[in-house]
Parts: sequence; C-alpha cells; structure tokens
Amino acid sequence: MFDVKKEAAALSAELETIYKDLHRHPEIGYDEHRTSGIIADYLRACGMEVQTGIAITGVVGTLDSGRPGKTLLIRADMDCLQVEEMTACDYRSENPGKMHACGHDAHVTMLLGAAKLLSAHRDAFRGKIKFLFEPSEESIPASMKETVRAAGYDGEGGAGFMIQQGVLEGVALALHVQPAVPAGKIQIARHEATASSDVYDIMLTGKGGHGAMPENAVDPVPAMAELITAIHMLPTREVSSMENCVISIGQVELPGSVWNVVPERAHIVGGFRTFNNDVRALLRQRIPELAEGIAKANRCTAVCTQTLGYDATINDEAMALEVSRTLENIVGEGNVILTNKPFMGSEDFGCFTQHVPGVLFWLGIGTGEDDKPLHNPYFKMDLQALPVGTACHVQNALHFLK
Ligand SMILES: [Zn+2]
Ligand SMILES: [Zn+2]
Repeated sequence: MFDVKKEAAALSAELETIYKDLHRHPEIGYDEHRTSGIIADYLRACGMEVQTGIAITGVVGTLDSGRPGKTLLIRADMDCLQVEEMTACDYRSENPGKMHACGHDAHVTMLLGAAKLLSAHRDAFRGKIKFLFEPSEESIPASMKETVRAAGYDGEGGAGFMIQQGVLEGVALALHVQPAVPAGKIQIARHEATASSDVYDIMLTGKGGHGAMPENAVDPVPAMAELITAIHMLPTREVSSMENCVISIGQVELPGSVWNVVPERAHIVGGFRTFNNDVRALLRQRIPELAEGIAKANRCTAVCTQTLGYDATINDEAMALEVSRTLENIVGEGNVILTNKPFMGSEDFGCFTQHVPGVLFWLGIGTGEDDKPLHNPYFKMDLQALPVGTACHVQNALHFLK
C-alpha cells in the first residue's frame, strides 16, 4: 500500500493549475468541449483507454488492473452555471455569464488527480476503475435542448444520457464539495441523500370579461386560489408523515391581466421533491387530477404538463458505512459524519443510484469565514481541498477493489 495522502499532497501544485484553468473557462451543459478535451488528453497521458463523445461531451477513462475483480465507477460532473462570477479572485471566469459556482471544476480536478495516482499504482488494486466525466449535471440549458433531443435523449441531466449509452457497470461513487460542511470533514447520508425533483405547469383557462360584470365571464382566479390550497394540502393529507416530501409553487401569474378585467387565464408553475418513487408517482398523478377537477368545478379548463427531473440519490447503506470508515484514513477519525438527515436539493447522480449500488458524499470546504453557498456568484473553493478530494477517490478505489 502506498501513502495516499502524501502522494496526493505532492500533486497539489498540478491540481491547482488544472483547477484554475478550468475555473477560468467554464462551459455550460453539453457544451463542455474544451473541458472534455483536457480530460481526455490527461487520461490518455495516464495510459488509459478513453472513450469520448458519450452523451455529446461525456468522457470515460477505463483503468484496468489486468487482474480479475469488480468494477468501480467514479463520477465527476463538469458543467458550469449560467451565473456571472462576482469574486475578485485572480483566476475568475473569463466567459461572461458563466461560472463554476457548484465546484464541478474541482470535481474534475480531483478525479484527474486520482486517475494519475491510480494509473501509477495498478498493482495496488484488482478489477477496473471507470473514471466517468458527466456533462450537464445542472439540468439541460435551454440553448442546448435541440442538440440533445437531436442526439436522441429526452431527459435532462447527463447521467441518464450516459447510462442510455451503456456506461453503467459495477458500483458507483461521487463526491460533491460542500461549503456548509467544515473543511476537513466529510458528510455522508446513510440512505436518502438528495431528493427527486420534478416540475409541473398548469394553465387554467376561463373566459375574460369586464371586471364590473364577472357573471358574463368565467373567472379562472377562484379556481387558481382553490388549486393553490389543494396542492399545498397534498403532502400533509395524501402522503405519510414518515416520508420526506415537499411541493412548492414558484410562479403564479395572470397573463396580460389588468385590475378591472376578469382574466382569461391563470398560470401556476411549481415543483415537488421526494425520495420515494411511489410518492413521486402519486404526486405526478394527483396534481393534474386536482387541476382538472377544480377547473371543472369552476367552469374552467386545465392543461397540466410535467417535466420529469432528477431521480432521488439513495445511498447504499452498507457502502455508505464502508466509505465512512475508509475515508477516516484521509480526514481522520471523528471527521466523517454519517447522517440520517437527507438534503431536499437534487443531484443527477441519483440516476446512477437508481440502477446500481452507489454513494454520494459531501467533502467539506467551509472555512467558517463568510462562506458562500453553492450556486452563489461569490462562491469560492478552498484550494487545499483539491488533494483531499483526490486522496478520497484513491482511498475508496483501493478499498472497494482490494
Ligand atoms: Zn449545482
Ligand atoms: Zn453540483
């Protein structure tokens, strides 16, 4: 066994150079051509078999120990957000309106570091490792929708697209940086890690008219008001209180409305999140039922469309426990927090955990001094975390493929 922490630390300067370059040149989902080129070149230089163009810009490097064993798949996402960077750091984004505000540049860097160390130590494990670089974790950018549909994928994030192209094998791991967790610590959910996330869109249509004579019109506003209450009641009245589930209404509008006019239409857009696929199916069925029933009772019509978003990330409990013990070798005993508290945000890695046993873990990067959350234009990575992330991937690989 080699000294993982020491070898990862020795890579620090190289990792910082890679990270800063990626951070300067962020690319949105399915458009990560420069990023995936850098990844593919790096993996080839490590002597790995590399597949490119999976799910448009996805890359998979396969490192075979040459000895029989299991397959471990490690995922890094590589897209940026459509956010204008506001930090004053000297390696800030050079692409206007684009920023690596979710740390995916760090994820790529850490996994490349692990690829380098593990390819230099093929004798230290059995089986093979698939280094998987996923495009468009942050759902599909509007400008790329047509390209993705033309390529034969009708989902959102890159995970499902890569799986459709046959990358899935073995067990899967992923790391995400997290400013809400202190640097030097790792947080792992025992089971429910991140929620599923779906969008619904309801258009209620009545008949417009003069506000002085509503009896000559069909007002969709009372229907909308009833529907808002009914939607909010769903989780408490139709879903067990033992389930984690939330429904929100994020947009309400009366298109083209004026104060003294009965509007013709009322529009509601919202989302729901849960961890249980049965609850997810129930909500998908009940929201349009409520919309249609309430619309009918109010002499209106309802059109409800839904966009299937991300699956819940469900960590494999036995693996989560193994990862937590393994990573104590990197961050020290007592610094890995195993939690039963899930996160209601979502992660496209959930798609992998719906098919194979997997674990998503959070690598702490919080410094305690004015930390900004993920997706914030002032988000800043603690660069000392780069070799720690690399060491985590390597330690996990050595454990699961011993
Ligand atoms: Zn994100
Ligand atoms: Zn992210």
